[in-house]
Amino acid sequence: MPAPRAVLVDIGETLFAEQPMDRRAAADALVADPRFAPHLPDADALEAAQPDRPGAWSVLGWLRGMLPEALAVEAELLVWEAGVRMTPMPGARDALAALRSASVPVGAVSNTRFSGRAWQHVMEARDLAVDFVVSSADLGARKPDPAIFRAALGRLRLPPGDVWFVGDSWERDVRGAAAAGLLPVRFGKGPPPPRPHPPCAVACDWPAFVAFWKSAGPRRVS
Ligand SMILES: [Mg+2]
Repeated sequence: MPAPRAVLVDIGETLFAEQPMDRRAAADALVADPRFAPHLPDADALEAAQPDRPGAWSVLGWLRGMLPEALAVEAELLVWEAGVRMTPMPGARDALAALRSASVPVGAVSNTRFSGRAWQHVMEARDLAVDFVVSSADLGARKPDPAIFRAALGRLRLPPGDVWFVGDSWERDVRGAAAAGLLPVRFGKGPPPPRPHPPCAVACDWPAFVAFWKSAGPRRVS
């Protein structure tokens, strides 16, 4: 497998280990903030309005229905900081730094309730900066829909065969990326699915990914 001209990465259980969203903490933080409280219902209503399985639901879209635009953007960051319980995966920072030092562009592609702008903000604050984030909440398409992979390729201005996609989900990441023509790297230690799956590389963790990337052949000229 030749070295990639760019790398796309999943966020949940790939860049960050995640636990379920604490919607109560997010609601409490919103009503405790004097910038937002005058515009909002009580914390019980704010907690109940956040779906358990968000699908295409968007935190920013929800907040825009209650707050002026500039406040909605600020409130989305507060919801992330108060409600999200994610910690960087071991080795993720070093892997991103290694790709950056080799001038390999990196984008994140996530099925998420948060906007790409919010993700870029919180990732930069945690020394996990990427060049861009393609968020399902912004796009209205979720992995494995090829549309979300095409959106990321459009940001890169690269053909899919020059790009690796690193993610933990066989269905959303490996199958989705393969169907869009990217080269999937399955991340993590979980077993393979029982049914046939597309050809892919496997990296059990970020140090293994870096070793695999460094062992790849010369980058193609196109
Ligand atoms: Mg994931």
